[in-house]
Amino acid sequence: MSNLCWIRRDLRLHDHAALSSSLEDGETTLVFVFDPHILDKLKNKEDRRVTFIYQSLQEMEAELQKRGSSVIVKYGNPEEEIPKLAAELKVKNVYTNRDYEPYAKDRDTKVSKKLHSLNIGFKQFKDSVFFEKQEIQTGSGTIYKVFTPYKNKWLEKFESQGKIISNYECNLKNLRKFLNPESILSIDWYKKIGFIETLPLLSGGTKQALKRLKEFESIIDNYKTARDIPSIEGTSLLSVYIRHGNLSVRDMLRVGTVQRSDGGKTWVSEIVWRDFYQMILDAFPYVEKGPFKPEYAKIKWMGTNEDFAAWCEGRTGYPLVDAAMRCLNATGMMHNRLRMVVASFLCKTLLIDWQKGEKYFAETLLDYDLAANNGGWQWSSSTGCDAQPYFRIFNPYSQSTKFDPQGEFIRQWIPEIAHLSAKEIHQPDELKAPDYYRPIVSYETNRRRALLMYSVVKNK
Ligand SMILES: Cc1cc2nc3c(=O)[nH]c(=O)nc-3n(C[C@H](O)[C@H](O)[C@H](O)COP(=O)(O)OP(=O)(O)OC[C@H]3O[C@@H](n4cnc5c(N)ncnc54)[C@H](O)[C@@H]3O)c2cc1C
Repeated sequence: MSNLCWIRRDLRLHDHAALSSSLEDGETTLVFVFDPHILDKLKNKEDRRVTFIYQSLQEMEAELQKRGSSVIVKYGNPEEEIPKLAAELKVKNVYTNRDYEPYAKDRDTKVSKKLHSLNIGFKQFKDSVFFEKQEIQTGSGTIYKVFTPYKNKWLEKFESQGKIISNYECNLKNLRKFLNPESILSIDWYKKIGFIETLPLLSGGTKQALKRLKEFESIIDNYKTARDIPSIEGTSLLSVYIRHGNLSVRDMLRVGTVQRSDGGKTWVSEIVWRDFYQMILDAFPYVEKGPFKPEYAKIKWMGTNEDFAAWCEGRTGYPLVDAAMRCLNATGMMHNRLRMVVASFLCKTLLIDWQKGEKYFAETLLDYDLAANNGGWQWSSSTGCDAQPYFRIFNPYSQSTKFDPQGEFIRQWIPEIAHLSAKEIHQPDELKAPDYYRPIVSYETNRRRALLMYSVVKNK
């Protein structure tokens, strides 16, 4: 009897919990399903994420072909495709890693039921996070809703386990040997799924991911200070790789925990944030549709559709916000500091519902991840479990002078004001920058409005 290992957001052949167990248990076939439920939601048929996944699958396929094997690729509803294939191959079990998104959990329950009705097992593993929700709980057995005590418990548990980071070895000799005429290297799967190949800024695959990780290792000691400056490469740029599982969370933690510097510790803390938001989504799935704190669902957002369009297109007249949005639109990437700036600006300066911004990020970000994106937006809009207080409103001008003091990042993305001095560029003068936009709203006036808007629902 053999097994099927269903690959989803874990596109790699090393340190893979489900694949490792499947191979240990018996001969294994790999499958990946392009799911129309997910693909149909992507408006742009030149979606960078699809190309990223495609490239990752191509790399996997090339590795498998060297071993006389292949990944079976399907296009269809996984609830149908997986049981059908499992039955055709007469496998004993389907192996897969757990996914904490509401849609994925529901899908997996349905797949599992169908498999059981066929007498086929469905085995799920912890892989994409380091600790799951039941592993990090308060003394009274509840879920942490505040990050710092969660992180302290996370670190305490990690230390008490001897800081052991498992490596799920994958014995690829146990892959089923077969020739797949419909592999991702043999036929045009873009055509089959209705998408067009693009050129993402970062190409998919484990080789690229591990190369980046190695490069980042050499600068990790500076991370604590460098991570806040968008004009330099001070962060790892690994989010897209971890999102698609080209590398494991354990690959990342190994690098972070080996470094005893403040940089290494801060980086580990960011990875703990990632676990925290996955855990929040898993425990409180309603956050996908609305605020963690229900009182904030009552906010009457006053912003306009015109201002939302200006925000999306980078023409609000606030240079740092516009530069960040233009960078996002052109590359699919945005620095963490800028995500916080533009998110705060959308809901607390333009007075627009944060969920519109969340959706725009979901459509645009190469590293889009429901849990992290939702967590980031709920934090910025003060509607989340451990969010910044609603009266903390980022001043886009002081964020600009503090985090892009020389205006280098702004110059890169807004050529209309590139000639201005470091002093002038943050708040351009109409006469010196006639080609650039005037601020579409007044920060000061709307700051007062935002405070009112939030306090009304808060004090109800
Ligand atoms: C409004 C908003 C939306 C966001 N949307 C996403 C998203 O869709 N996908 C996403 O991966 N991250 C998101 N983040 C978190 C963060 O901005 C990105 O993870 C980070 O910018 C990715 O760059 P990096 O890989 O160089 O990060 P690094 O600074 O090198 O951090 C290392 C890793 O830690 C994780 N991480 C870092 N910060 C956070 C955080 N605040 N929350 C959760 N995980 C974190 C990421 O996996 C990241 O790759 C969002 C943040 C905000 C404020």
